[in-house]
Amino acid sequence: MEKYLSQLNEAQYEPTVQKDGPMIIIAGAGSGKTRVLTYRIAYLMNQGVDSFNILALTFTNKAAKEMKGRIADIVGDGEAKNLWMGTFHSVFAKILRFEGHHLGFPSNFTIYDTQDSQKLLGSIIKEMGLDKDVYKTKQVYSRISSYKNSLITVKAYFKNPELMEADAMARRPKMGEIYANYVDRCFKAGAMDFDDLLLRTNELLTRFPEVLAKYQHKFKYILVDEYQDTNHSQYLIVRALADRFQNICVVGDDAQSIYAFRGANINNILNFQKDYDNVKMYRLEQNYRSTKNIVGAANSVIEHNKTKLDKIVWTANDEGDKVIVHRSLTDGDEGRYVASTIWEEKMNNQLPNSDFAILYRTNSQSRAMEDALRKRNIPYRIYGGLSFYQRKEIKDVTAYLRLVLNTADEEALKRVINYPARGIGQTTIDKLVVAANSTGKTIFGLLKEIDTVNINLNNGIKNKLRDFVTLIESYQVMNQTANAFDLAEHVTKTSGLIREFNKDGTPEGVLRLENVEELLNGIKDFVEGQMEIADSKDGLAEFLEDVALATDLDGDKGDPNHVALMTIHSSKGLEFNHVFIVGLEEDLFPSAMSMNTRSELEEERRLFYVALTRAEKKAYLTYALSRYRWGKLVDSEPSRFIEEIDDQFLDIVTPIEERRINPMLSADIFGDVPPNKIRFKKAVQPKFQKKVAKKKEPVNFEISAPKKMKKASEVEAPADANLFDGELTVGNRVKHLKFGRGEVLKIEGKGTDVKAEIDFEFGGLKKLLLRFAKLEII
Ligand code: ATP
Ligand code: MG
Repeated sequence: MEKYLSQLNEAQYEPTVQKDGPMIIIAGAGSGKTRVLTYRIAYLMNQGVDSFNILALTFTNKAAKEMKGRIADIVGDGEAKNLWMGTFHSVFAKILRFEGHHLGFPSNFTIYDTQDSQKLLGSIIKEMGLDKDVYKTKQVYSRISSYKNSLITVKAYFKNPELMEADAMARRPKMGEIYANYVDRCFKAGAMDFDDLLLRTNELLTRFPEVLAKYQHKFKYILVDEYQDTNHSQYLIVRALADRFQNICVVGDDAQSIYAFRGANINNILNFQKDYDNVKMYRLEQNYRSTKNIVGAANSVIEHNKTKLDKIVWTANDEGDKVIVHRSLTDGDEGRYVASTIWEEKMNNQLPNSDFAILYRTNSQSRAMEDALRKRNIPYRIYGGLSFYQRKEIKDVTAYLRLVLNTADEEALKRVINYPARGIGQTTIDKLVVAANSTGKTIFGLLKEIDTVNINLNNGIKNKLRDFVTLIESYQVMNQTANAFDLAEHVTKTSGLIREFNKDGTPEGVLRLENVEELLNGIKDFVEGQMEIADSKDGLAEFLEDVALATDLDGDKGDPNHVALMTIHSSKGLEFNHVFIVGLEEDLFPSAMSMNTRSELEEERRLFYVALTRAEKKAYLTYALSRYRWGKLVDSEPSRFIEEIDDQFLDIVTPIEERRINPMLSADIFGDVPPNKIRFKKAVQPKFQKKVAKKKEPVNFEISAPKKMKKASEVEAPADANLFDGELTVGNRVKHLKFGRGEVLKIEGKGTDVKAEIDFEFGGLKKLLLRFAKLEII
């Protein structure tokens, strides 16, 4: 038996080596689902399945990267690189680049991130003369997102009286029109938003059977991790692709389904057996991640959910410490308790910072934790927050680059047309938008004809607009020959952006400059990995795609030895030695907004189950008796979830000092007191009256999207690959690490400058510099 297969228990081994046919693994947290998926891919490859024919969909790109790394350890680097592995969004963005032309999209289409989408919606709402307090952009955006994820197109919307009525009841009767305008404007701008990446893929696979057949044939083996959190749109894509060969393996845990609020449908996992014939169902029961106390505590909580599949989770691991429950007076105290406990654990046991994670229900809770960690000089990092690429200065630079590639990109244009200031005012921009809407032209198209179009602008303004067009066109010319790095550097200098950031001289300005520099470094890295591509246009497009789909969740910049802070939603699939779950209070966790129905409350409970099962050795549950929320100090009660845990797994501690310190004075002294503990037997006696959800600030979830920049090292050729050695001729069939198979159409140039034009199966037409291209003749 192969060595890696011996690292599986019997229950894991069986699904790993079942090569063909549909299969589902439903199993609890930490039981090795992701390990089975990983090893199964290695096994398939060892069985002769071509790595180009395997598609694996993961929850984050970080997870994909880790899986790839592990597979590379088993089968070797080169082959692992050919796997199509990533999130739904990144994988299908890639397919849409190749195939989007069927739907009328340019291959350089822009991906609008949430910020871009919301800005566009804001303008549409304004242009339509609607009340922005009724039509709040965030709400309108999430409504449209939910239509898209249920595959409700504009046409379908207007055929559905119930939907229209629901929007009218919510005092937003114009939702449908906004939706229609939004879709038109994105299309005209050559842009797709995050949801479009799935919706348009579905459209592509439904309307173009030959495209469907091509990808069905390519992806002979499909694997999906975290299947319980797929939404309808994702479900249909998987189903369509797997239909031909039915070699589909999905893994998941119904008890960890936590994205219903974003359209995830738990029935996808429950009904899998109905979707395919002869589905093999596997269960894994042994947890390898956590101690007996943690597994026991998690099991006892999830028992309270009525809707669930019966599952057994046990572990042969040590009993370990009991789950610690800690009460603080205020959120500040809670932060100090967490920081001082981490500090003590580190000192007493020589542990690295990266052994610790702090998980919370809402992003706003991170502040108190950050303050306390900073005071103790404990390095930390917040995951899933604003991504590097969403920072203002970075968006400013990338907006120029986006415009170079796609002048139709309305949001990019609006962002930079008067930034840095060029004397082109909002009134002018508004006039242009109106004219563009009424003529069907793009704004940039109008600008190019500014002398002849009928817009009421004075000559001074027209000159400025002409200058702007000239500037962008000069970048486009440069883009014909220069690489993405040289172009980006040139853009930052000549657009005036650098001068602008330099000008204010504040620390923030300096930080902005540093960030721009980091961006340029990133582009350089990327370009080096792409050297082989003579046609730099694609390099830039691909880089911008990575940027659009990047989140901080995927990033691994800087020193990896830090405490991780993140929302529970972002922590799915991860594991840490010590886990602090903070803010375990009624109305916060479970969230006040989730107490209206049983199903919402059960989703909160699953969320708690996810949090608790991230811990390997020690779990801490903390709550505060009062907390600053919405600028006010409010009293809170411990979460019902603490009460639901079986006593035998808990260690309820409260610092002795708490009782002799005046709560009003406690904030500064209490936290630094070492946690001398006294034990109470179930001191937590919350009154769990049902609460009526009051009007609260909306809870801000993190959308964890994908992808980080590719590093040069990731795209390099493997040492053992059979590389092109100079005998390439027209008509040769070749294989490329990234673009798949292709045919050589033309060879040109001399010496080190020889280029080949190749028509790739999945890359389309590419001109490659042979000196760099890693081609294999097949
Ligand atoms: P989750 O539901 O949280 O996603 P999972 O079911 O995907 O969990 P894994 O992450 O695959 O579980 O495995 C949990 C931990 O147990 C990992 O550290 C993994 O390496 C380890 N593990 C899994 N199977 C075995 C095994 N047979 N022997 C030793 N360790 C194992
Ligand atoms: Mg997993």
